[in-house]
Amino acid sequence: MLADSPTTDDLVALLRQRGQRVTSQRLVILRELRRAARHLTAAEVCAAVRDDLPGTSPPTIYATLDLLVELGLARRLDVGLGVTLYDPRVDPHAHAVCRRCGAVEDVEARVDSTAVMRAAHADGFQVEHSDVLLTGICRRCTN
Ligand SMILES: [Zn+2]
Ligand SMILES: [Zn+2]
Repeated sequence: MLADSPTTDDLVALLRQRGQRVTSQRLVILRELRRAARHLTAAEVCAAVRDDLPGTSPPTIYATLDLLVELGLARRLDVGLGVTLYDPRVDPHAHAVCRRCGAVEDVEARVDSTAVMRAAHADGFQVEHSDVLLTGICRRCTN
């Protein structure tokens, strides 16, 4: 389990606050995302919840993942591999992606992006989010 990940209790509280239904789909999908403790594609989430949520359609699962992101309980991550990943960690951290094997690893560092955000803002850009993405070759692929 990840210390800094939102719990299903957080999800229940947020859904109630917004007057949205607490469904087993929503709880199971967050739980599985957390249990995986890594970055998952939507297809991997579908596979992970297949036993617990038989008959739940992929569009429902995709919509639930979008809802979790909207609620701030998961992050959507595009690492340039042509696939969107979902991250159960929402605390600040960077990512390193291996261009050989596609592994995506968390990098424990807080980056001060104030300067780059200020520059973008000065150009009239409304910043919504900033991510630090390192690309290169992972340890396994270098050996
Ligand atoms: Zn690699
Ligand atoms: Zn991550």
